[in-house]
Amino acid sequence: MIPAQFDYARANTLDEALNLLAQNDEAKILAGGHSLIPAMKLRLAMPPLLVDIARIKDLSYITEDAGQIRIGAMTTHYQIESSDLLKTICPLLPQCAGHIGDVQVRNKGTIGGSVAHADPAGDWPAAMIALNAEMIIASKSGERSVKADDFFLDLMTTAIEAGEILREIRVSKPAGRTGQSYVKMHHPASGFAVVGVAANLSLTSDGKCERASIGITGVAAKAFRPNGVESALTGAALNEETIASAATHAADGIEINGDLFALVAMSD
Ligand SMILES: Cc1cc2nc3c(=O)[nH]c(=O)nc-3n(C[C@H](O)[C@H](O)[C@H](O)COP(=O)(O)OP(=O)(O)OC[C@H]3O[C@@H](n4cnc5c(N)ncnc54)[C@H](O)[C@@H]3O)c2cc1C
Repeated sequence: MIPAQFDYARANTLDEALNLLAQNDEAKILAGGHSLIPAMKLRLAMPPLLVDIARIKDLSYITEDAGQIRIGAMTTHYQIESSDLLKTICPLLPQCAGHIGDVQVRNKGTIGGSVAHADPAGDWPAAMIALNAEMIIASKSGERSVKADDFFLDLMTTAIEAGEILREIRVSKPAGRTGQSYVKMHHPASGFAVVGVAANLSLTSDGKCERASIGITGVAAKAFRPNGVESALTGAALNEETIASAATHAADGIEINGDLFALVAMSD
């Protein structure tokens, strides 16, 4: 439970952090530390240099402008959970944040750290996919934007490359008759998702499903979009029968992770 030796540097600006990262390809960003420090203690991660971005004030914000919601990478789960703005315009975000860990975890852990960590049972990746979020990634050569569908590549692997920092998450403000929800089956010991489903649906004026955007976490090596469910819902009148029938496609083409707890729970 003792990490390998490492150097530590605190950045006060994004540029400073990018310069520090450029010094060592193996350097890692330290955000809330709630995933990285446990991994270091178990020696699953042994970065030679930690670049602490916790004091960069410019990375912590929630704004909305011209239909675009912007969330700084260092915004904590709690700030999102308690945001009156988000509760009004995009309730999936505070709802998802409220499912993460306990109060201490939510006060310290950040959306950027969670998304960059890409834990297969983490909550944010499902919401990012359902909301078609855009990840704004900064490097010394500028910025690029990566859609959530292209961002989560594999188990704990994202499109972020060495020398890059996830700076901001952008989500379009839902328009029209849109309904959103995040539902999670919590693992009784860890609190992480055995399965978590984020749904972002819009309806036509006659109550049919116009567009369905869904993300699922906890089930596979990475969060994914269940295309079969979305296709089955689109154009359908939403009722228990159509929803139950669409849900049978949730794991189409997906290699499901083994889970001792889920097997026991299902056989009870
Ligand atoms: C007891 C406990 C319970 C938890 N329960 C849950 C839960 O139920 N659901 C859930 O989703 N999570 C849970 N978590 C994880 C928690 O949400 C973490 O806060 C989160 O996964 C990581 O965020 P962080 O800010 O702590 O990142 P860190 O631990 O500091 O960093 C995580 C990784 O992301 C990288 N990174 C961080 N920020 C950036 C950035 N801006 N750009 C590029 N790379 C970056 C780091 O280098 C590191 O590799 C739990 C954690 C604990 C300790």
